[in-house]
Amino acid sequence: MEFYFDLIVIGAGSGGLAAAKRAASYGAKVAIIEVNQIGGTCVIRGCVPKKLMVYAAINRRNIISSEGYGLKINQISFESNILLKNIREEVLRLSNFHKNSLEKLDIKVFKGLGRFSSEKEVEIICPKTNKVINKISAKKILISVGGKPKKLNIPGIELAWTSDDIFQLHSFPKSLLIVGGGYIACEFASIFQNLGTTVTQLIRGKSLLNGFDKDLSSCIEELTTSMGINIIYKNELRSIQKVDENLESTLDSGSKVLSNNILIATGREPDLQPLNLDFLNLKMDGPYLEVDDLNQTSNSNIFAIGDITNKPSLTPVAIEQGRVFSDNFFADLKRKVNYENIPKAVFTIPEISTVGLSEEIAKEIYSEKNIKIYKCNFTPMSNTFKTNKSKCMLKLVVNNLNDKVLGCHMFGESSSEIIQMVSISLNAGITKKDFDTTMALHPTISEEFVTMYG
Ligand code: NDP
Repeated sequence: MEFYFDLIVIGAGSGGLAAAKRAASYGAKVAIIEVNQIGGTCVIRGCVPKKLMVYAAINRRNIISSEGYGLKINQISFESNILLKNIREEVLRLSNFHKNSLEKLDIKVFKGLGRFSSEKEVEIICPKTNKVINKISAKKILISVGGKPKKLNIPGIELAWTSDDIFQLHSFPKSLLIVGGGYIACEFASIFQNLGTTVTQLIRGKSLLNGFDKDLSSCIEELTTSMGINIIYKNELRSIQKVDENLESTLDSGSKVLSNNILIATGREPDLQPLNLDFLNLKMDGPYLEVDDLNQTSNSNIFAIGDITNKPSLTPVAIEQGRVFSDNFFADLKRKVNYENIPKAVFTIPEISTVGLSEEIAKEIYSEKNIKIYKCNFTPMSNTFKTNKSKCMLKLVVNNLNDKVLGCHMFGESSSEIIQMVSISLNAGITKKDFDTTMALHPTISEEFVTMYG
């Protein structure tokens, strides 16, 4: 069989773009298929627009609490339409930037939905007419279609938003019920509350951010409550109905919550259905495509990266998987993705960041008696004259047997910037003694990491 392309990438998100560009840089003939704007979840309806909202919320929070620094502003207004319009423009600029860089590398972009017609052929479908508008083939096909928000199966769910809808808004609601206690729920609770929306957060369990170190999850709980957010614990949404201009949520307990809108943030799932994969019988791991170390599926021509694989659903992971895939198959570089010590942040205000093992997991693996915890809580100097006195928390999880630092966790301003750098040390196998023999940089928040004694 003669192939026009060496590689077809289905999905032009962060991972797919990285793979396509890297393969083309080695001289491969590449096609990329995308049904929406070029850029995918991170650029169009995730990390980038969300972080711009976080900056708006941080600025407002700082302005209204900084009179002690002599900064008096008589009246502060927030015009959400301006922020949302600027975000849409920035997202479009980034999407065009990616489009142009694909053109420069001679990567052919096909607009439509990709659907397999054989293991080496993909049809491009017009989403409006559902008609086949093109058919292309390649030696290798990479699936990088990402995920979509999970919806609850309850009456009235169509009235609620998912995170995708937030970026289509033209103004912020006055009140919002957020369902979920994970990344998206906590980030948007913080953004909306700090920008003037009254937020209620509904969680089915006893705590926010399950799976994170318990001290981080407690910091976020304390923060959320101190911001004035009402958290409803151990309850679930049963139905939604419209009441005049508002939405009425009925909970398991029978109680009702009235809000302008509802945001469902109960996780995301792979978006594989349009691909017509069934006849290929690819091995699955639950809802995810099973891939090996080379991101190869059970079919040797078909590869998968990003949120559709059973690896952490994070943009940098998808990008690295995409680059490693192309380095291996178009430049024979024999590379592997390093999944150790992946740093993570939840961009609440202030944010939490983490790398390595939580205290709980470290104790499970190495036994409680072998784990030593170093921890400090304090009010950062930047809050000295502020009305908002939020604290910060720094924590190291150390293996007593060999002094290795297993985990590093932080709640507080700039923690994501700090933890990104600490993750290099953890990857290099740093010990607590290495922290102790590093000179502090004063006055900073992160100097506490090198001056903590047990
Ligand atoms: P998460 O998995 O982080 O959180 C899901 C939340 O929804 C949990 O609190 C979970 O509760 C709750 N939940 C799940 N099912 C139900 C249900 N049926 N009824 C009520 N509550 C339910 O998912 P998100 O949607 O917040 O984020 C998806 C992924 O996107 C993240 O895992 C992350 O990989 C990525 N992401 C990363 C960001 C970052 O890096 N800063 C930002 C945003 C997203 P419980 O804890 O009880 O299971």
